[in-house]
Amino acid sequence: MHQGKLIVLSAPSGSGKTTLVRYLLNCEELNLGFSISAASREPRAGEIHGTDYYFLSLREFKDKIKADEFLEWEEVYRDNFYGTLKTEVQRLWDNGKHVIFDIDVVGGLDIKRIYPERTLAIFVKPPSIDELKIRLKKRKTESEDKINMRVAKASTELATAPQFDAIVTNDDLEKAKQEVYQLVKKFLDTSSSAT
Ligand code: 5GP
Repeated sequence: MHQGKLIVLSAPSGSGKTTLVRYLLNCEELNLGFSISAASREPRAGEIHGTDYYFLSLREFKDKIKADEFLEWEEVYRDNFYGTLKTEVQRLWDNGKHVIFDIDVVGGLDIKRIYPERTLAIFVKPPSIDELKIRLKKRKTESEDKINMRVAKASTELATAPQFDAIVTNDDLEKAKQEVYQLVKKFLDTSSSAT
């Protein structure tokens, strides 16, 4: 069975980690495949089932928890469950890819705990909580209430940063891209082989 490596990018919502994940996915030589998470929230405009997330009903999500189909899952916000299906990681490994995750800090650390040697866990830090709030407002995808909820959660998430293998501060996007690229490249080149 082919087992590739696992690259986790975790961060408070609005830190820019999705942009960094997309950047890494475009670097073909890294041979990364995106782990499509399951989520129980409604799709946002433009989001596609099976591309951005596997959108499940709350009921479907809970059934899969019971059936032990998740590698990790988390109730990230109330009634908004997110998780990595075991079949998803296997699908990417079967395709000869290393897996990259865009997940919250608890899920990221869970992956690291499950596969300590195979995982590089990177924490993407926003320059400040104020900046995070500005970014979330600019994104215009969430209501004021939801933004406040995400900002409140960010403070607790920031406290977990030291548990990650590396911390990248995203105050200058181009610099952050280069930093994550170097970290991932080095990890893929130097640790045990992908097969
Ligand atoms: P959003 O609703 O903005 O797409 O995601 C909300 C949060 O859930 C983000 O921090 C995102 O990284 C996290 N998330 C997405 N997929 C997963 C997953 O599979 N597991 C966990 N634990 N968190 C996830």
